[in-house]
Amino acid sequence: MTRLSSFVRGEWHTPSEGGSALVNPSTEETLATTSTKGIDFGAALSFARDKGGPALRAMTFAQRGELLRRMSRAIHDKRDELLGVGMANGGNTRSDAKFDVDGASGTLAAYADLAATLGDAQILVDGDALQLGRGARLFGQHVRTSRHGVAVHVNAFNFPAWGLAEKAACAILAGMPIVSKPATSTALLAHRLSEVLVASADIPAGVFSFVCGSAGDMLDHLGPSDVLAFTGSSDTAATLRAHKAFVERAARINVEADSLNSAVLGPDVDEGGEAMNLFIGDVAREMTQKTGQKCTAFRRLYVPKDKVDVVIERLGERLGAVKVGDPTADGVTMGPVSTAQQLADVRAGVKKLEACAKIVFGSVAPLDGIGAPAGKGYFVGPVLLRCDAPAPGDAVHSHEVFGPVATVIAYDGTAAHASALVAAGGGGLVASVYSDDRAFTRDMILGVAPYTGRVTLGSEKIAGQALPPGMALPYLLHGGPGRAGGGEELGGVRGMYLYMQRTALQGDRAVLEALTGKK
Ligand code: NAP
Repeated sequence: MTRLSSFVRGEWHTPSEGGSALVNPSTEETLATTSTKGIDFGAALSFARDKGGPALRAMTFAQRGELLRRMSRAIHDKRDELLGVGMANGGNTRSDAKFDVDGASGTLAAYADLAATLGDAQILVDGDALQLGRGARLFGQHVRTSRHGVAVHVNAFNFPAWGLAEKAACAILAGMPIVSKPATSTALLAHRLSEVLVASADIPAGVFSFVCGSAGDMLDHLGPSDVLAFTGSSDTAATLRAHKAFVERAARINVEADSLNSAVLGPDVDEGGEAMNLFIGDVAREMTQKTGQKCTAFRRLYVPKDKVDVVIERLGERLGAVKVGDPTADGVTMGPVSTAQQLADVRAGVKKLEACAKIVFGSVAPLDGIGAPAGKGYFVGPVLLRCDAPAPGDAVHSHEVFGPVATVIAYDGTAAHASALVAAGGGGLVASVYSDDRAFTRDMILGVAPYTGRVTLGSEKIAGQALPPGMALPYLLHGGPGRAGGGEELGGVRGMYLYMQRTALQGDRAVLEALTGKK
């Protein structure tokens, strides 16, 4: 049985015992085991801080970008192999695996491009210089510099490749070395990707470390200059936030957590129009891509009362065409959920939703997947529910079912009602509004933007070129307030801020201008 190693202190550490099993969720066959027993996390973080930090900080933004470019290319060169690993350990269809792996290489490449625009500098200039006195000499200027610590990245099970790469891109460009820890259950892909990066991307010693398995006492070793970027459930986030590293030592923490993302169909949308087609297509994709295990997937579908029946009918047609099974079998369009626990959580979650909604398509009954051994695999088909009398506090507004499940929720056709219901989700990553009515769209933006990290606007004119709402883009913000964790990632240069210290400089204008390259 393969034992997966961790890459710490510049070398691969292979566990002496089996530890946790990583399985193929279609067959339940064990693929590998991993454990972090025996790793000295204090020494691992010190190595990154003391070796990787100075090496990165000596590089300009452009040079760090060249490193990101090498990382992107190394992943792309092994694309087919990595897709196969994602299919085996993540239950991904090939298309799901591409979303993860190409998302990883694409995000690194996008940050390499951004780095080129930042050029030979090592300091980020924040806003314009300000004249402080009566004379024209005394000026103030905000700048950002790399923090002198280590960035620990803890990721969720659903995006082992992209999760590693999108955090790595921002931290490395900002000048911080990283220690990356994937969720254990699907770590095989992140492990192989790390092997590829270490072997082929010529990363300076200490800049990249990889922890495969439990985090052990790693957080106990975080100090005031360090950063934790966490992605996962709200429950784990709540435990981590209370850790002394953050409460007493003021290490930085960024949280990306649950989200009850919404799609709102405007009252003006014609049943047969392009905006409606876009809505139906987006919902069907968001529900089934990665078997609904995407933090950005729609969970709540707000539809004007008079269109609820037609929306359910059209979604039923789309969902009825979904073929659930082992992603390596012909014709399969949706794989299993990733773990036995996930399957149990989806079943229990749908039961919770049934307190305020009724199932109108599918079920969570046991299912034999196409091409999978009978009785094996964590399969569940898409489930659509209907809620005619939504209220803040009910299950559709408080419980995330992390699988191919969404609820059509009736609203009265006004932006005020739809906004209040979106807000009742307690803060989310993405809300999507489908309408050609500019007044409705404006009112929706004012109503939902304060509760949402990203708002996508679908309309007749944009229908042919719209991007999937669930796709996090390197140049736009990913993260959201409240339930979603309150964190911010990506967003171009904004993604670097977590890893940099903002400082106000006061002094001679000429000195400041020379420092910031403004003259
Ligand atoms: P999870 O159970 O909270 O685990 C997330 C990560 O935290 C894993 O790497 C886990 O490691 C680690 N972890 C757990 N306890 C820890 C501790 N005490 N100290 C340090 N690390 C610890 O979440 P999940 O089941 O993997 O992911 C699903 C959730 O993530 C969903 O709720 C989803 O909405 C959310 N998510 C959010 C985003 C976003 O960007 N907002 C993206 C993806 C997923 P082990 O696996 O080793 O236990």
